[in-house]
Amino acid sequence: MENGQRRGHTSTSASGEVAHVMLADDLHTEICDFAALQWPEEACGLLVADQLNPNRILRVVFAKNISEHPQTTFEIDPQTLINTHRSARERGELVVGCFHSHPNGKALPSPKDCERADEDGFLWLVIATAHSGALASGMYRAIHRHQDQEETQGAVARYFRKCKLVSDAS
Ligand SMILES: [Zn+2]
Repeated sequence: MENGQRRGHTSTSASGEVAHVMLADDLHTEICDFAALQWPEEACGLLVADQLNPNRILRVVFAKNISEHPQTTFEIDPQTLINTHRSARERGELVVGCFHSHPNGKALPSPKDCERADEDGFLWLVIATAHSGALASGMYRAIHRHQDQEETQGAVARYFRKCKLVSDAS
């Protein structure tokens, strides 16, 4: 539902995906606190939702960043990935997204993040961190757009769309 707030960009896509994501304040705070503690390294983890309500984050799974260069990139511990997907399946939930922090203080996904966004529709929460703590956050959805034109040979354009983050007050 539109609430009349309009900025320079549209809030819903042409394909009708919901552009807002619900995340309870306490979960958001937990993620920010966790990310702040990992500074100057990148923190990472997973966002889990109910299958019936994939735009409302139900729980968060904190993961170990096993990257060899944790100050500039992240790699979620594969065992955490396996365990989280398994437990989600068992509970009728879905792993709908991931989060990670940027210790350089930028809450925007990087070009490298875009390259790694292999799952269409997956949510990417980015937390900007500094020595003083978490500064800001942004929720993005990875979008893969198949191009029909002959000259692009079915190439997939890949980008992030900013989502409106709403706290789950209901
Ligand atoms: Zn990143």
